[in-house]
Amino acid sequence: MPTAHVALGSNLGPRQQHLDRAVFSMRHLPHTKLIAQSETYETEPVGPPGQDPYLNAAVALHTTLTPRDLLTHLRHVEQAAGRIRRQRWGPRTLDLDILLYDHLIIDEPHLTVPHPRMHQRDFVLRPLCDIAPDVTHPILKKTIRQLLTECPSP
Ligand code: ATP
Ligand code: MG
Ligand code: MG
Repeated sequence: MPTAHVALGSNLGPRQQHLDRAVFSMRHLPHTKLIAQSETYETEPVGPPGQDPYLNAAVALHTTLTPRDLLTHLRHVEQAAGRIRRQRWGPRTLDLDILLYDHLIIDEPHLTVPHPRMHQRDFVLRPLCDIAPDVTHPILKKTIRQLLTECPSP
């Protein structure tokens, strides 16, 4: 079964509750099994100034949902957390991004996998490294552990 890695982030409202509910929802997605969950990290916000700190985590899923169907489900989970898209990279109750989907490389208008900014983000790589240190980035051909080592700290 394919493995997908998903990043979770929240910096608005009851952050831990948003992450916990998202994990619960992903655990119950159709044709999907949650196989690993990282620690939760508090991180400084990137993007427009004046935002509160984030909680970030990552999970691994075994799923037979297609990447596009998985994204659709994740957007529903974001919406259930009251996600409103106002400002790019602005505060949000819940952000769920597909980081990796097996070794697939996808470049579609609404879906880019691997996530195009994952390797530049300490707040993504650190939790991902908890659960997938030896997984290789299919474009950069480096492990998550290597990418984390090379990533400038926030
Ligand atoms: P960033 O992508 O820099 O982390 P963001 O997560 O805040 O920013 P969103 O507002 O959550 O951005 O999503 C913007 C669009 O990104 C979505 O409409 C979605 O279609 C698209 N997108 C492209 N690739 C992915 C992916 N791998 N995971 C999640 N969304 C993606
Ligand atoms: Mg994001
Ligand atoms: Mg997103």
